[in-house]
Order: sequence, then structure tokens, then C-alpha cells
Amino acid sequence: MSRREPIVAIDGPVGAGKSVAARELARELGYSYLNTGAMYRAVAIAAREAGVSPDDANVEARLAPVLAAIEIKFDGEKIMLNGHDVSAKKDEPDIGELASRFSALGPVRARMRELQRAAGADGGVVMEGRDIGTAIFPDAEFKFFLVADVNTRARRRFDELKKKGASITEHEVLEQMIERDRRDSGRELAPLKRADDAIEIDSTKLSIDAVVAAMKAKINARINAAKDLKRA
Ligand code: C5P
Repeated sequence: MSRREPIVAIDGPVGAGKSVAARELARELGYSYLNTGAMYRAVAIAAREAGVSPDDANVEARLAPVLAAIEIKFDGEKIMLNGHDVSAKKDEPDIGELASRFSALGPVRARMRELQRAAGADGGVVMEGRDIGTAIFPDAEFKFFLVADVNTRARRRFDELKKKGASITEHEVLEQMIERDRRDSGRELAPLKRADDAIEIDSTKLSIDAVVAAMKAKINARINAAKDLKRA
């Protein structure tokens, strides 16, 4: 592998704390950060704007020009889709659902794989999603699988949405979450699952700082062990 720096892959279900932990870990390591879920959300927005529904009989053919033209850029906290800021739209509950449905399609996954592999080619990146350690970078130097109790995840997601002004109940969040996890884990292509060599961290009772500290401890332990081996 000709990467200059390592790749850190963080996968897991909705609300396990991936985004906050990944962003903070990237900051502490001096790496870049890529939220691949936001990319699938951008696809959902682009498809909706083009009038394409996952229920269309010829959905893949209709999506082809959308995927060919798609340009996704991150600008700090902002996500730009084809030159427009879609940061607010990305968090609409319908978009999470739509992203999950479109993400089961082969051409969507192939296009995202291409963009994500290009973004991580030089390493020095913390990439989070559902299939980073299994399908996008199966050779990532560090892999984590973040989990948490479903009620805790629903409560976290609800608090997050409430802050953003969404009108949804905690029960609705829980139901949507269970459905999205079921679809993401059950799909044929790159389903959500822990890579055999990923380290599982249960964040139910941990603060984000503790999650990041646990990840950093694992990374440093491996780096130091490799250094010792070189010296010996
Ligand atoms: O992480 P987030 O909830 O924003 O992701 C939205 C949806 O995008 C997920 O429910 C999943 O279906 C899809 N996704 C994926 N693979 C990834 C990241 C997200 O299929 N690597």
C-alpha cells in the first residue's frame, strides 16, 4: 500500500456517536475527516431534486445522469452539492430515510466508493460510515465499530434533531432508527456489519471524550508496538 499516512475507519449504526467521535479524533490526530453518510444524504437530495424516487421502476437508469454529474464538497461544517450549500437539507429526517433507500443500489454504492477511495488515497484521514472497514478500505490500518444501546442512540439522535428545530417525537426517532438499521444491515451490498478485525467500542455509557480517548489509546499502542519491533 503506497499511502503516506494511515486510514482510520469508523463504522456503526445511527446514533452510536460516530460523527462527533470521528471529527474529534481527526482533529487530535491532525487528519482530515470524511462523513460518508453525508455523501449518501447528498445523493438523496440530488435524486429528489431531479425527481427520481427509489420506487421508480427504472430508478438506476434515471439516477445515472445524477450520479455522473454529482459533485460533493465539504467546507468545514458545510456540505456543498453541485455548488449549493445543502447542510440544512441534509439533516431532514426524510433525507436520512431516502439516503438509506438509495444507498442499497449498486450504482450509488459504486459511485460513492470511487469518490471515497479517491478522498482517502493518501491516508491521513478518519472516515466514518457503514462499510468503510469492510468495503471501502478493507486494508485500513485502524478499524473501529461503534455501537450503543438502541434507546440511548434514539435519545441522542432526538436531542440532536430537537436542537436543530425538527418536529418529531423520541418514539418516532426510535422507530425510524430501528427501520434504518434493519435496512442497512440486511441489504445485499456492503451491509452494515463489523469487520472481523475491527475493534468494537460500546458508547452507551461513555462520553465522546472517553470514546475518542479509547480510540487514541488503541492507535498509539499499535504505533508504539510497531516502533519497538523496528528497534529490536
Ligand atoms: O450516517 P448517516 O445516518 O448520515 O447515513 C445515512 C444513510 O446512508 C445510512 O442510513 C446508510 O443507509 C447510508 N450509508 C451507507 N454507507 C455509508 C454511510 C452511510 O450506506 N458508508
